[in-house]
Amino acid sequence: MAGARKPVVEVRRSQRRRRTVSAYREGERVVVLIPDQFSRAEETEWVDRMLARLAAREERLCRSDAELLVRAQRLITRYLSEHARIAVPASVRWVTNQNGRWGSCTPADRTIRISHRIQEMPEWVIDYVLLHELAHLVVPSHNARFWELVGRYPKTERARGYLEGVAAATGVVLAD
Ligand SMILES: [Zn+2]
Repeated sequence: MAGARKPVVEVRRSQRRRRTVSAYREGERVVVLIPDQFSRAEETEWVDRMLARLAAREERLCRSDAELLVRAQRLITRYLSEHARIAVPASVRWVTNQNGRWGSCTPADRTIRISHRIQEMPEWVIDYVLLHELAHLVVPSHNARFWELVGRYPKTERARGYLEGVAAATGVVLAD
């Protein structure tokens, strides 16, 4: 995610490495492999460079429409499996022109748009917004049946509270 705080970095020096540097995520931390011969200054320089590279890679992945579709499919399988046929959207994409809403759904053409405003929010909030819109493909209005579907996601209440908090803090009136 963009805007994430700086991760814990573990630098591993390798005598077998001569010039190549690589970095990968291991749980919460980022492991950076560098040649043993690197100076402290080189180590610092390369750690910064690799963190930037890793963040850019993750951001691209996280922000793409393709990733959004993969995320949608995972949510459908987990929470809307008996509606799998109608809950799959024709398209799902990030949009920047959605000022009053976190997400929107047009059941007629089965398209879903998610506001770029939530791109930097925690993953479980993005999942809630996406599941909310997917559930609208099954039930267009906010009735009891709709909330039963959305309520299957264990973090629904928490995510709604989070979004209300953001809306209040930014002074924006948002509809869901
Ligand atoms: Zn809604």
